[in-house]
Amino acid sequence: MTGTLFRNVRLFDLDTPGGMSPRRDLRVANGHIAEIASALEPGAGEIVIDGNGKLLMPGLINGHFHSAVNHMKGRLPSLPLEVFMLYECPELDVLRPTPREAYLRTMLGCIEMLRSGTTSVQDDCFFVPAPTPEIIDAVAQAYEDSGMRVRLALDQPEVSELDKLPFLRDLLPEDVRRALAKPAGAPATELLSLYDHLITRWHGAADGRIKAAVSCSAPQRVSPDYFVQLDDLSLRHDLPFYAHMLETRLQRVFGDVCLGGRSLVRYTHDLGLLSERMNVIHAIWVDDTDLDLLADAGAMVAHNPNSNLRLGSGVMRWRDMHDKGIPVCLGVDEAIADDAINMWSVMKTAASIHTLSHWDYELWPSAQEVLRAATQAGGRAMREPGLGTLCRGAPADLILLDLNALPFVPLNNLPRQLVHCELGQSVRMTMVAGRIVARDGQVATVDEAALLSEAAAFFAGKQKAMDLADARMAQLLPYYRDMYELAGQHNLSLERRLPENLR
Ligand SMILES: [Zn+2]
Repeated sequence: MTGTLFRNVRLFDLDTPGGMSPRRDLRVANGHIAEIASALEPGAGEIVIDGNGKLLMPGLINGHFHSAVNHMKGRLPSLPLEVFMLYECPELDVLRPTPREAYLRTMLGCIEMLRSGTTSVQDDCFFVPAPTPEIIDAVAQAYEDSGMRVRLALDQPEVSELDKLPFLRDLLPEDVRRALAKPAGAPATELLSLYDHLITRWHGAADGRIKAAVSCSAPQRVSPDYFVQLDDLSLRHDLPFYAHMLETRLQRVFGDVCLGGRSLVRYTHDLGLLSERMNVIHAIWVDDTDLDLLADAGAMVAHNPNSNLRLGSGVMRWRDMHDKGIPVCLGVDEAIADDAINMWSVMKTAASIHTLSHWDYELWPSAQEVLRAATQAGGRAMREPGLGTLCRGAPADLILLDLNALPFVPLNNLPRQLVHCELGQSVRMTMVAGRIVARDGQVATVDEAALLSEAAAFFAGKQKAMDLADARMAQLLPYYRDMYELAGQHNLSLERRLPENLR
């Protein structure tokens, strides 16, 4: 692969007060950062990029994402998670995608991320109604073609709908209860053989840019046996393990009602499955004991503040997690619950929302903390040494920002302006593994215009099927609403939303 030399460029450096180095030269070779010095001579055949007036920083890392709904941005109103999921991912055959559809929707996300400077993603991809090797291949192929770095998991519940939620069983009429009591579309044996396919065919593909991860979706959405087997898979191949935990009040209530008073974090701990490979997603309704268990296990937390606000889930305990040494990365969650796939807006919300949690303003997040969460903590979550840093030997996943663009004029404080002013419009170049994949707001790896026009036409044709699915799921809405109300009335000793009596 041709090397690249960035000359006279400011380097992102959170350890310096201004957040960046004096002008430097940085050499990329064999997909990695090879050399950094005050002056370097170009080698034969090397691409030379003038970095005058520019900032070179690590590409942003989308630490949690579900690409399966990239085509559904803006489709649903703001709803609580349990009602939202009723419409988001029903196991209906009418929604079964073709491989081309899965490819197109994945590519929509890749284009949006690469253009705005997100170079890596942890795709906790779910499959409606169930995964197949062809659809897995289509998703992975889109990542290969786009040039993005990805960890790809199969986020597939394996127990019945009734086992995943509190109260619902008792609220349903007999015929509906019977229908919802049947197990999920794919049993554990089938899911494990699909993991075999994912790992054999794709783990380490595209020179290591594409790698597998493991997902249980959430502890209450799988049987303990399957949960243990997934952990074993994660251990054997050293794969990140994704698990949504305590995203909502209802999930906290689930522990009281269905797990004998144990939280989902405690339940996972009791199974012996909390580990440093685990990415605990959301972790909003945690108590102090849960935080200690996460800290002791060395688990990561993936924080998705835009999604948490869009779905009314609550506010995570940012400062408490940092105080306990729990690493926190940032994520979009998904294009139906953010609904932009833009890590800059995620950073801005993360930096802003946690000011509400403490009267003591010295406990509020700093811009540096938020930037570290979106870069090096993401690399740690992905289990990729050096990813998200500009260290020598780190993967060359880099973005070049124009310091003469409006978010930085005048330049008062780089870290704060990156977090609070920038939305991706100043990104002039995106590089992944040493290859330039986007330039001046256009993806260089695929025919963006042709893909967007094909996707617009394709998904316009899918609207009828999606409307049909909505209408079918709406029949269940009264029962889900009752379940949600019961969870709201259940007494809890913790609160993660604004108290309503302060109106
Ligand atoms: Zn999620």
